[in-house]
Amino acid sequence: MGAYKHILLAVDFSNATEMLVQRTVTLRQFCAAELSLVHVIEPVVIDPSYDVFPAVPLGLEQEAADKARKELVRLGDRLAVVPERCHVVIGSTKNEILRCARERQADLIVVGSHGRHGVALLLGSTANAVLHGAPCDVLAVRIQ
Ligand code: AMP
Repeated sequence: MGAYKHILLAVDFSNATEMLVQRTVTLRQFCAAELSLVHVIEPVVIDPSYDVFPAVPLGLEQEAADKARKELVRLGDRLAVVPERCHVVIGSTKNEILRCARERQADLIVVGSHGRHGVALLLGSTANAVLHGAPCDVLAVRIQ
């Protein structure tokens, strides 16, 4: 089996992120792979029949995406990843991670076993979904 050529690191900016970063850095020392970063913003869903909520200002996701992009580019800077390889996308987390992996022809996706959605299961929802849908290998870094 050849060495990995392009790693996609999925970042949710939770406390686990640093561990994922360290694992990816170590991995790259062995295979000198390209690295891309992806962060997904889930759209705010408003149920119009549920009028307790005040209207969410238009452009909220875009604002969140702009902030996330700055964070991601900062992280990219640390990892020698150019801004063009720091992807912030709006959509469903698992779908967008998979789409990004396909479009960039990543041959390894790195995710945390758990992130913001708790540690009740052996694998969190994102890691599980990515494992099932990935077109390539997946490294689920164990988060205690
Ligand atoms: P979770 O599904 O919250 O247990 O998250 C598990 C892992 O999926 C995280 O450690 C990240 O690697 C990845 N992940 C979760 N949410 C996002 C997101 N919004 N954008 C990119 N990666 C994510």
